[in-house]
Amino acid sequence: MEHCFACDNDYAYLGTIPHRGTCPACGSSVVTPAGDLSIVGVNMWESANGLSTIRVTTADRSARHFEFTIAARRGRGKLVYLVIDGTEVPVDAVGSVPATVATAVTAHGIRINNPTPAQSL
Ligand SMILES: [Zn+2]
Repeated sequence: MEHCFACDNDYAYLGTIPHRGTCPACGSSVVTPAGDLSIVGVNMWESANGLSTIRVTTADRSARHFEFTIAARRGRGKLVYLVIDGTEVPVDAVGSVPATVATAVTAHGIRINNPTPAQSL
C-alpha cells in the first residue's frame, strides 16, 4: 500500500513496479518510495549536550530524495525529521524507518526505537 503525505490518501498502485512516485489523487510527489531506497549519504554530528544527530539521505527509483534525521542519546535513536522530495513530513505518520536506513544508522552504533508503525515505508 502506498501513502501520500500531502493529502493522506492511501492507494494501491496498479501497473508496473516501481510506480512513478506521484499520488494519483493530488499529484504530489510526497509519497512512499517507488522501489527500494538506496543510500546517498550519511552525516553524523554530536552536540555539546551529548545528543547525536544522524542524517541519512536516500533516493528511490524515481530519483526522489528521502532524508531521515535521527536524534540519539546513549546509542538509542529515534526518527525526528523526514523530508521527502524537499517537503517535511510529520514523523508520527511514518512509523518505522526502512531497513536500509536502519542498517546505516546501526552501523554508526545507534539503535532505533521504532514506534508502533502507522505507515511503514
Ligand atoms: Zn495525494
